[in-house]
Amino acid sequence: MTRFCQSCGMPVKQDPENGGTNGDGSKGADYCSYCYRNGAFTSAEIKTAADMQAFCVAKLKQMGTPALMAWLFTRSIPKLKRWRNI
Ligand SMILES: [Zn+2]
Repeated sequence: MTRFCQSCGMPVKQDPENGGTNGDGSKGADYCSYCYRNGAFTSAEIKTAADMQAFCVAKLKQMGTPALMAWLFTRSIPKLKRWRNI
């Protein structure tokens, strides 16, 4: 079973730390270590799903991902748990 980070959509198995951490140091189940660390989201400037999409598209392009693929990878971000109630 593949779990996806509920903030950025990355498969958690691709996360070298295998998931974010809660405030008490235990593993957080829902997020990757890039998004969630020590019980808090890491990027204060990312406040909406659109912010996260723009951030991820820029990151993917940096890694050489074609724009269409970057769009495909990020278009489900607004459906993730973190953004559903915003
Ligand atoms: Zn993430």
